[in-house]
Amino acid sequence: MNDQQLLRYSRHILLDEIGIEGQERILAAHALIIGAGGLGSPAALYLGSAGIGHITLVDDDAVDLTNLQRQIAHTSARVGQPKVTSAAEAVLAINPDAAITCIQARADATLLDGLVATATVVLDCTDNYATRHAINAACVRHAKPLVVGAAIRFDGQITVVDPRQANAPCYACIFAPNAEFEEVQCSTMGVFAPLVGIVGAMQAAEALKLVSGAGPSLAGRLLMLDARNMEWSALQVRRDTNCAVCAA
Ligand SMILES: [Zn+2]
Repeated sequence: MNDQQLLRYSRHILLDEIGIEGQERILAAHALIIGAGGLGSPAALYLGSAGIGHITLVDDDAVDLTNLQRQIAHTSARVGQPKVTSAAEAVLAINPDAAITCIQARADATLLDGLVATATVVLDCTDNYATRHAINAACVRHAKPLVVGAAIRFDGQITVVDPRQANAPCYACIFAPNAEFEEVQCSTMGVFAPLVGIVGAMQAAEALKLVSGAGPSLAGRLLMLDARNMEWSALQVRRDTNCAVCAA
């Protein structure tokens, strides 16, 4: 690290759990963030500010006026611009050293397979079950840690899938891929603005912990937030020995 970096990251370096070595690992890491909306915005801003060396953003959408209530990486001036380039501008304004790759595309299995293989950590900041399961399958296949976040109405959820841990469950162990889930999206159900900030910031925290080695991750635990009453609950989740994705 040069003098500027030692200053920029000094409050991390002061932490016993991170220090110089942990910050070096953060600087050397490649975070793949899928979804540059409500969860992806705070996740990208914190990972960029904290010095993740390379961030790849994937999203096929453009910034819309209805996004601005909660998707804090975007601005009124960037309505109509691709979300990936808008979020990249926001991160670079904080930390010009960040290397950001923008991919304006829908995350399908083929794209994910190539991208996940190159990542240190993956963040699922999407809003639909099909993509979530495709991301999980790619992370299991390439043995990459995955931080999964979800937020709808006043309900938030976060967990970590870490295929490097023998007994930790994957996303499909917890939520069966073939189950008939009612697809719920912000466009029809609404979402409380700071909820995506809370969950997205926690995703950044788990990603930074996984990369730097600061503390155990959420692997094996599913946290659920009821933001109406501001109550967290934690569920211990186990590996399904018959899981179609990770048991093979
Ligand atoms: Zn599984």
